[in-house]
Amino acid sequence: MKRRTFISSIGAVSATTVLPGAESPPVLRTIDADVLVIGGGTAGTIAAVQAGRLGARTVLVESGSQLGGTTTTAGVDFPGLFHAWGKQVIAGIGWELVTEAVKLNSDDLPDFSKPTGPQHWRHQVRICGALYAALAEEACGKAGVQLRYYEFPQTVTAAPGGWRVRLAGKGTSVDVVAKQVIDCTGNASVIGLAGLPRQREKTRQPGTLIYRLGGYDLATTDMNALQAKLTSARKSGALKPTDINGTIAGFLAKGGESGNHIPGADSSTSETHTETNIRGRQALLRVLRFLKAEPAFALMNIERLQTEAGIRETFRIEGETTVMHGDYTSGRVFSDAVAHSFYPIDLHYEGGVKPKHLDEGIVPTIPLGALIPKNSKNLMVAGRCLSSDQLANSALRVQASCMAMGQAAGVTAALAARTGTTPLQVSLGDIRRELRRHGAIVPKTG
Ligand SMILES: Cc1cc2nc3c(=O)[nH]c(=O)nc-3n(C[C@H](O)[C@H](O)[C@H](O)COP(=O)(O)OP(=O)(O)OC[C@H]3O[C@@H](n4cnc5c(N)ncnc54)[C@H](O)[C@@H]3O)c2cc1C
Repeated sequence: MKRRTFISSIGAVSATTVLPGAESPPVLRTIDADVLVIGGGTAGTIAAVQAGRLGARTVLVESGSQLGGTTTTAGVDFPGLFHAWGKQVIAGIGWELVTEAVKLNSDDLPDFSKPTGPQHWRHQVRICGALYAALAEEACGKAGVQLRYYEFPQTVTAAPGGWRVRLAGKGTSVDVVAKQVIDCTGNASVIGLAGLPRQREKTRQPGTLIYRLGGYDLATTDMNALQAKLTSARKSGALKPTDINGTIAGFLAKGGESGNHIPGADSSTSETHTETNIRGRQALLRVLRFLKAEPAFALMNIERLQTEAGIRETFRIEGETTVMHGDYTSGRVFSDAVAHSFYPIDLHYEGGVKPKHLDEGIVPTIPLGALIPKNSKNLMVAGRCLSSDQLANSALRVQASCMAMGQAAGVTAALAARTGTTPLQVSLGDIRRELRRHGAIVPKTG
């Protein structure tokens, strides 16, 4: 190589290798908002759209890459229950997005006029999760919501008339100074950062990694022989008991789908969430290797595999009101009820789940006080972390209920920001009027 060529090639190499190290740290910016929603999942998306539609300057922060949370990223793309005992009890923005997703994907709605009896899942609405995420994003855009993906709160400190929330992100550093903050992280993470109490059970419900297997024919499978092999694989440790819940026939009939459990699943820190996802994927690999060893499953393939495990339970807040099991099963109408909820008591344990159905005619309600942390100002939650005991929460956590809570929190926060009050001081009459005006169904409180 000639000397001049050699020197110029060194220059080229050093230019490309030096650049990454020369990146400067992000400059801290401040954004003023009326309502800051953290967590763009099942509840948070609806809360942000609602606040935006009421004219509040709304920011929605989501640590992932799309909206919808458990409904989309974790693949629980069968939201329910919007109907009880032959009539609709939850509607509003969640219902609007769900039915738009059904229409746009040429899917069908269930026949809600037919009672399901104990088969409550027949009234869940099957949607395309990715399409729902796109529609939710569009709804945020139309409502003027500022969307911020790949960011999460680092610190939450009281500021005059609201909160200052420092967000970390890729190449960004932002302080959002907001009059009202709604924590929709599913884990009450913002409430924890604000120094308010959270609680969780010693034994929490397991999580699930949703996937669907195909490429096999059940009609030609000797189920008894396969069940015997499953039993011995469990005994030998080749499979963990929670890798395949129940019988192999039941598991394969659904292509696996949500037929596994991840004990101790926890999304409340990056470390526990990483570990949960890895354990879910390891379980899938064990199942694949077990089944693929059978000639009848030689051509088995993965039709669908979610990128995150679904988490059923982590932290709940201590609210102004706590919904107890008896409140839920008796259909107590709280004086500050802002939404209905409807689902069986659905506590999952390592070995499975045995839903306990509500007595005929019962339609539980969600009080505003369960969305407001005790002794807090300008803070709310919506979604599965509402104030409730574990059994009530096992029903309250479902998607239609989370969407209804999101809408109620969005209205309350927007009105509080507009009037310079706190969520507890906003008139219930105003909250209910706005909820109805935006399509929600509000329980009759006598
Ligand atoms: C396997 C499984 C099966 C289920 N089956 C059903 C069913 O059949 N029917 C039904 O209706 N419900 C079902 N559920 C329950 C229901 O799906 C969830 O409880 C509900 O969707 C939770 O909604 P959420 O808004 O509270 O949380 P999520 O939807 O999980 O939303 C939380 C969002 O916050 C984001 N986030 C978290 N932390 C941060 C942070 N620090 N900063 C920024 N963003 C953050 C997350 O990325 C996520 O997008 C099931 C749940 C699971 C796991």
